Amino acid sequence: RDDRSGETGTTVLELDGITKRYGPETAVSDLSLSVRDGELLTLLGPSGCGKTTTLRMIAGLERPDEGAIRIDEDPVAGEEFVDPEDRDVGIVFQNFALFPHLTAAENVGFGLESWDREAREARVAELLDLVGLADHADSTPTELSGGQQQRIALARSLAPEPEILLLDEPFSNLDVDLRVEMREEVRRILTETGVTGISVTHDQEEAMSISDRVAVMSEGRLMQVGRPEAVFQHPESRFVAGFLGHASFLSGYVTDDLVETELGSVGRDRIHGLAPEYDRTRIDVLVRPDDVLVRPADGETADGRVTYRRYLGPTVLYRVELDDGEVVEAMHNHAQQVSLDTPVTVDLAATHELAWFPTEDH
Ligand code: ATP
Repeated sequence: RDDRSGETGTTVLELDGITKRYGPETAVSDLSLSVRDGELLTLLGPSGCGKTTTLRMIAGLERPDEGAIRIDEDPVAGEEFVDPEDRDVGIVFQNFALFPHLTAAENVGFGLESWDREAREARVAELLDLVGLADHADSTPTELSGGQQQRIALARSLAPEPEILLLDEPFSNLDVDLRVEMREEVRRILTETGVTGISVTHDQEEAMSISDRVAVMSEGRLMQVGRPEAVFQHPESRFVAGFLGHASFLSGYVTDDLVETELGSVGRDRIHGLAPEYDRTRIDVLVRPDDVLVRPADGETADGRVTYRRYLGPTVLYRVELDDGEVVEAMHNHAQQVSLDTPVTVDLAATHELAWFPTEDH
């Protein structure tokens, strides 16, 4: 696959205004989304935002109350309903759901009963090879590590050659080291097979690291969808800005060519898409911790004071209360430490375009 941008390619799956209610609760609200051939799209959002319900509707395990779902332009939910087993969709569950009494090879071959024996055996061998477990064909799930069990679960879901693979919180049952290893593996396997992937997670780092596009959800609604870099750098809402990473909002006044903030002025051309209607008004500029530099004031006039400090190993996260009461976060290399309560000068170090939002009373 040459194109990993997710911005071209034919549409494999289309969600068209789907809504799902449970009693008085709306789990998914008027959600529309297209997924393109061969991409990995991740539904990302906090607990309860409707990610899993969306995935289950794609799989056919739930029916939408409104809207339609199409796979390869064929309706599978809406006016008609296609059962899960008749959709070209595989699913990897959070707990892997392997059959404990079957071997790895038997698990992988489970969905292939209708295949003739030779073809089935060849396909099982091919899949075991793909996930790097050719020499564990006869192991039972209890003899496999968590990562190996997940590889078998993946192989089992891919064996019947689905067009779409759904992954429900695929890494949440693995410890941290294995999580990073397995997400690289899932990415590799999807790329090698060309299968379209849709995954669900609340972990923004995981979503951004492996996805071609992320779809950020909140309270049943789709907030924004796009390439990880685009959504991170140009969030369209404060919710998305804050959910994808640490976000501070610095009040700024827009002049002819500058935006003046408590931490100095920023060239207006460095504020992304700032429209003329915001001339001579206040806006909130989004700053990420790595856009902000703090150092001890050492006799200079301080801009604020360190009120929070977290040592994270390679980096240290600071929260600084500025003299006007605003709070900004800064992330530094661990070698440049500043202790709690230190009066500090604060500089905006960003060289990229900054995102902004209208002040809440604009
Ligand atoms: P999590 O990450 O915690 O799994 P999620 O984003 O996947 O959350 P969903 O599981 O889709 O969210 O749930 C969305 C909303 O719908 C929640 O408020 C949940 O309580 C509700 N909900 C989900 N399934 C059911 C159900 N079977 N019956 C009643 N309410 C449900």
